[in-house]
Formats: sequence, structure tokens, C-alpha cells
Amino acid sequence: MTVKISNKIVGYRVKKADPETTTEHQAPLQPESKPVQMNEYIERPDFLLGTTYKIKPPVAEHAMYITINDILLNEGTDHESRQPYEVFINSKSMEHFQWVIALTRVISAVFRKGGDVTFLVEELRSVYDPNGGYFKKGGVFMPSLVAEIGAVIEKHLKAIGLLENEEMSETTKRILAEKRAEFEASQTTATNDEKASDYPANATMCGKCNTKAVIVMDGCATCLSCGDSKCG
Ligand SMILES: [Zn+2]
Repeated sequence: MTVKISNKIVGYRVKKADPETTTEHQAPLQPESKPVQMNEYIERPDFLLGTTYKIKPPVAEHAMYITINDILLNEGTDHESRQPYEVFINSKSMEHFQWVIALTRVISAVFRKGGDVTFLVEELRSVYDPNGGYFKKGGVFMPSLVAEIGAVIEKHLKAIGLLENEEMSETTKRILAEKRAEFEASQTTATNDEKASDYPANATMCGKCNTKAVIVMDGCATCLSCGDSKCG
């Protein structure tokens, strides 16, 4: 039915849905078809669980503490996932303060954007210090402090299951342990005075895992850290 309005419109009101007439048009909610509430827009909860990692890079005067907090998305649903939410870096030494703060803010922003954040690890780990990097305890080479921060993030993403943890098989571990024992027994001048490295003192650098852990035996170079081996 059309109604012609000849007077001036001076006001209007949106008609409210009549509760009695609307309910009968709606399909009754089945318990199994209950809609899942997805958190597209996240407000920071009052508390987050996190992990703090301590690193002691020789390029900084004091130890650095890297805290990564995680958020649990869509808790209790099939879409539940743990995602990193923010990162803080603390240290007594202030010489790197400015860029460390900048870096943590940018990383936190990338975390909060969501999606796949694992690319950060590769980006950070491939930063090379023009002064030439350093060896961590255990003989692992770090090309820069930024790379070590990247390594910590990698460790964390592996711990919460966002990156795959490439574990060595038990057989490989056993073979490496045997090789190592044999190598150490064959060394007459074993220098055990300082345990700076987890590997024999005369081990050389591995191109695959950046650890000073390659020994040469019977013409084969074997890395005691990652198991990489080349013969001939
Ligand atoms: Zn290796």
C-alpha cells in the first residue's frame, strides 16, 4: 500500500522489531550449530603468559633478558591457537637501548598483526654485524646481536609449536656420540682446561649450523652438532 505524504516531514522514528513477530521467523538455535566467536579484534588481556630468555652476548656489557608474551586465541574452540603477542628486552647496559626498543616495538607490531610471523626469524638471523659477530657458549656462531635475538624468537616459536623442531633421530645422536668419543680418544693433546665450547677444542666451523663442531676422522668431516657429513 502506498501512502502519499503531503505534509512536511518534521521527524521520524525507526520502527522497533516486534519481539513477538520476529521470534517465529528465526530458526531455533541448535546446540551443535552454536556460532563460534572468533577474535578478529584483540584487546590486550590484563595478564599474558610469557617466557623470558637470558642471553649474554659478548658485544654487550651485561646480560639481556628477552621476554615473549603469548596470547591464547579462540580459547576452548577448535580454532584455539597460541600466538606470540609482544616482546620486551631488558638489560642493565644501555649502549644498545635505542635500537633495541625500536626493534621490540616493530616485532610486537608484527606479532599483533597476526598471520604467519615465522618469517621474522629468517630476517633477523641473517643480519650480519660489520664488526664480525661472535661465538656463543657451546661454539655456535652468531653473526650479530640482532641474529641472536632472532635465534631466541626461533627457539620460542619452536617451543609453542609455530615452527617445526627438527629433532635428530636417536640413531644419529648415538653415532655422533660414538664418533666423538673415538675422536677425543685419538687426540693426545686434549685441552680440557677451559670448557668454553661443548665440542673438541680443535673442531672447525660447520657451514650448515654455524657451530664450531666439525671434526675430521678417516677422511670424513663430521659435524658433532647437526650431523652434517662430507667425505673425501
Ligand atoms: Zn653442523
